[in-house]
Amino acid sequence: MKTKGLATNGARARLAKYAPPQSCARLPDEDYRAIRFYRHPNVRVLDDVAHDKIEIEKGVIVIMCSDGDRFLGGLLSIAGLFATKHRWTTRIASWMKRTSLLFIWAFLYIYPRLHMMSWHAGAHRLVKNSRTNLPGRATDKDLMAEIMAAIELKQIYQIVILDHCKCGKLAKHEFTVEEQFHDIVTARDRILAEYEKVRTAEAARLATNGDMEAAANVPKLKVICMCQVDYGKRPGWWWRRRLRTYHFSTKQLVAVDAAKVDGKRHPKIADVIAQYLAA
Ligand SMILES: [Zn+2]
Repeated sequence: MKTKGLATNGARARLAKYAPPQSCARLPDEDYRAIRFYRHPNVRVLDDVAHDKIEIEKGVIVIMCSDGDRFLGGLLSIAGLFATKHRWTTRIASWMKRTSLLFIWAFLYIYPRLHMMSWHAGAHRLVKNSRTNLPGRATDKDLMAEIMAAIELKQIYQIVILDHCKCGKLAKHEFTVEEQFHDIVTARDRILAEYEKVRTAEAARLATNGDMEAAANVPKLKVICMCQVDYGKRPGWWWRRRLRTYHFSTKQLVAVDAAKVDGKRHPKIADVIAQYLAA
C-alpha cells in the first residue's frame, strides 16, 4: 500500500477511518489519492450516506452502470436503504451485517418501488459530447427521454445517480476521478433542467384546463448522487471486498472548485488541497 507523502502518521491514521486502506491494487494510485482527498473530513465531497436526504418509501429511479461485477453490490446498497428506513432495523442490521439481507428482502417486498436504469457508465451517458458516447449519435438524448418516461410511468420523483469508481467504461476512456465527479454534477443539472421543462409544461396545461390546485402541485424532482468505491480485495474467495457507498455532495464539489481559485473562500478545503498537491 502506497500512501507516501499523503499526510503525517497521525493524520493518516485518522483518515483511514474515512477511506480504508487498499488491500490490493484495485484502484490506480492517483485515483486512490483522489478518493482520499474527496473523502477527507474537511472536504466531504464523498460523505456517509444520510438517510434523511432520501424518502425511500416514495420509491427511487436508479441510474447506474450495468457492470455485472458490481451490479449486485450496487443494487444491494440501494435496497439496503429500504431495509434501514427505521432506526431499529439499522441497529439490528449493523449488529449482524448478514441479517440485513433478510431485511432488504422484506422491505423490498413491502415497498417495491425500485426502478433500475442501467447503461454502461450510468449517468455519464447523459453528458452531451461525452467521450463515453459514440460520435454522431444522440445517446444522451435517448437516455434522457427514457428517464423522463420512467418518471411518467412510475410516478416516482426521486432519482439516485449511483456512480462507481473505478468504472471500466470510464477507465477505457481515460477519465480521471475529477472529471468523473464533474460529470455527475453535469448529469444531475441536466436531469433537473429537463424535468423542470416537463413540469412547467404540465402546470401550464393544467392551468389552461382551469385546474389551478393541481397546476400548483405538480411534484418537484429530487436527484440524489451516490458513489460506490471499490477499494479492492485480496486474492482468494474468503477475503471480503472493501466496497463502500458514499453520498456524493455536489455542493461540496462546487466549494472545492471555488477553493482552488480563491483559497480564502474555503480555507479548510484550501488547506487540504495544499497538503495533497504538496505531496
Ligand atoms: Zn461501470
